[in-house]
Formats: sequence, C-alpha cells, structure tokens
Amino acid sequence: MIRKYLHDGIPTFFFNYDTGAPFTRCTFCDGKLDAYNKYMVEKHIRQNTVLHSREIVYEYALCWGCASNMGSEISDDSKQAIQQLFAAHGETLMRKVDYLHTTKQYTLDSWMERCSLTGKEIRLCSEFSASALVEDGNLVFEQTPLVISDEFMEKMQGVLSKETKEGFDGLRDKIMDGSPSVEDLVYGPVPGLL
Ligand SMILES: [Zn+2]
Repeated sequence: MIRKYLHDGIPTFFFNYDTGAPFTRCTFCDGKLDAYNKYMVEKHIRQNTVLHSREIVYEYALCWGCASNMGSEISDDSKQAIQQLFAAHGETLMRKVDYLHTTKQYTLDSWMERCSLTGKEIRLCSEFSASALVEDGNLVFEQTPLVISDEFMEKMQGVLSKETKEGFDGLRDKIMDGSPSVEDLVYGPVPGLL
C-alpha cells in the first residue's frame, strides 16, 4: 500500500547549499535537471551528537537520465547483496512509510527522525544520508525521502564487492571536493535497486 504525496515545493534542506536555491543541474552530466520531470537529491551529513552541530560532507543532484544508467556501475554480486540487505530491513521501511502516510505526517522532520532501514534515531548518528525525489519541482513523499543511519552504512560497507567500489570511482570524481569514499554513493536509493 504505497501512497504518494507531493509536497508544495522543495524544503530548503534539499536545496543546493552553495546557491541557497533548488538544484538546477545534474552533478554528474551537468545537464539541466528539468530535461526530465524528476530528479534525485542526496545529502551526506556528518554530525556531532554532543555539540548538535552538522556539516554537509557532500551533496548531489542526479538527473533522471543518469539515475537510469546508474545501476550498471554496480556489479551483479553487489546488486544482489544490496537487494538482500534492503529486503532484510524492508519491514522497518514499510512500517515507517505506512505509518507516516496513514497519519499524514508530510514533513521532513517526521520522515527524517529515524533511519528508514534500521529505525535508529538520526539524532544519535555520527553520519547519515538523506535522499529524496523531486517531481515537477515538488518533493515527493512516497517510499522516499529515504534516510540512512551510520549503522546501516556499515552494513552496506560489508556487502559491497571490490568491483563495485572501484566502479564508483569515476562517479566520485565528479562530486565536489573532499569526497568521502565512493561507496557512500550507493547509500542512496539508487534507482533500480529499490
Ligand atoms: Zn545527469
């Protein structure tokens, strides 16, 4: 039972940090995002749980054209392993999504309170990532926004093959300076995996 709700516009959290406005171009191909009716945004955030401070490690926007091709960067073994990992946590995800739709909690705070896959509270994470889908300029609440805790990241780390990690090298180079390890890229809801 997947419902879908379009937020009016895009919450500032998913804006381009540098411009203070919504993303307009794909981080990977530099094409205009509005060449398609939807795109993805992902932010990877590090936070100090004691000082309650946050910093963006990186962020990117992914046009639908690039998103559609992205699955090919991942080896079959890794794809299968990731799918199994998501499936193993699918119940937490579905319960969360179902609850938020049923109670009509269409705010980013509600969706980002806990890890979509492990249920860990995001405020207790030293790192987390949040990814969302934007359709015709509006944030989509459906299965996304997807929020991933440091706990789930570690699990992902454990199942990725060497080839997949290498396959993401090229993509990492296209993301802004100071990029963390490439495998972080797949913490998002890479289309084709979900
Ligand atoms: Zn693109």
